Amino acid sequence: MENVGQQGDPQPRGNAPVRPSLYGLDDEEFSSLVQACGGEAYRVRQLREWMYQRFAPAWAAMSNIPKNLRTALAERVADLEGTLSPVETAGEEGSGTRKLLSRLSDGELVETVLIPARDRTTVCVSSQVGCGFRCAFCASGLNGCVRSLTRGEIVAQAVRAASLLGRRPDRIVFMGIGEPFANYENALWAARRMNAAEPAGLGIGARHITFSTCGVVPGIERFAREGMQFELSVSLHAPNNALRDRLMPVNRSWPLEKLIPACRAYTEQTGRIITFEYTLVAGFNDGPEQARELLRLLRPFPCRVNLIPLNPVPEFKGETPSAATCERFRVLLERGGLNATLRRSKGRGVNASCGQLRRAAVAATRGQAESSRG
Ligand code: SAH
Repeated sequence: MENVGQQGDPQPRGNAPVRPSLYGLDDEEFSSLVQACGGEAYRVRQLREWMYQRFAPAWAAMSNIPKNLRTALAERVADLEGTLSPVETAGEEGSGTRKLLSRLSDGELVETVLIPARDRTTVCVSSQVGCGFRCAFCASGLNGCVRSLTRGEIVAQAVRAASLLGRRPDRIVFMGIGEPFANYENALWAARRMNAAEPAGLGIGARHITFSTCGVVPGIERFAREGMQFELSVSLHAPNNALRDRLMPVNRSWPLEKLIPACRAYTEQTGRIITFEYTLVAGFNDGPEQARELLRLLRPFPCRVNLIPLNPVPEFKGETPSAATCERFRVLLERGGLNATLRRSKGRGVNASCGQLRRAAVAATRGQAESSRG
């Protein structure tokens, strides 16, 4: 399962992190660690309050924990900064979107985006370093998948965002770099931890945690059996195999005749509505004919469609359709009975589309050789 969809992709070339993260320990591991470090049982709760309610960046901040316990813990596990050390925070005027770039303990980079909207803030987390799926318009997959993130590295992104916000995020979306269903166990574990009631976790409602997949069918089938109320988005982007093959190589492993029945089965088994993401590319998938095809494909079962005008990246020649074309597409879907929304992508000013900030930093620190390899 871990390697689903990665056949034929480059082997991960990163090393495993040196010290495990404090944020990836399960309850039993956590208690025995504290015990092994000479801490009394009640220290577990105190530590968790520092982790999930006060978002302490480092051991030094945990002022009611005895110094010798902190030292013993620090020898064995990494704190928030040891898990994700801040490299850069880029902000965007106007929308308020902030993008965090962090370095992992093996030197790899990961990005997390904070997206404020009215009274709530959504945090977009990454699940892998790079991505093995190589969607044509997405900057995340340019150098393939380096490695999957550990569960602690995923949880720590939400905690780092919380520490910047000064409160827990309202929503989490697995729409950063990587394919969460290619790192299924760690992504699910992290989501459960974010969902766990304080102080064992961040206390974010399951329905406010969204997984987004490029269409890894075995992942969708497994997700249907989790019995959790997490949300599911499926990146569709095209109404037929001919167009989808050109945008998303994953369509050759799981074409629409496999993907759509899996989505339908998910809806029937869980009673939950899937959101299909559809990136509009001018003259490619944004015409009335594609709207009609999309209606034929999706009308048979209840779902939502979220239209995203293409966020231009240098490597992809497609263009963003005009606002009028996007709106016309939306209206056609709605007239046909599909619930369709049109979202202007936020964060262009901070290179917020998948992988763009990480790519820029990798290119800057490693030079041309790395950036031209993909
Ligand atoms: N691997 C997962 C999650 C990460 S991508 C997935 O594919 O769903 C999150 C969303 O952003 C996906 O729908 C993806 O297709 C979309 N996306 C990536 N690059 C984009 C771009 N340049 N313009 C618009 N949407 C993009």
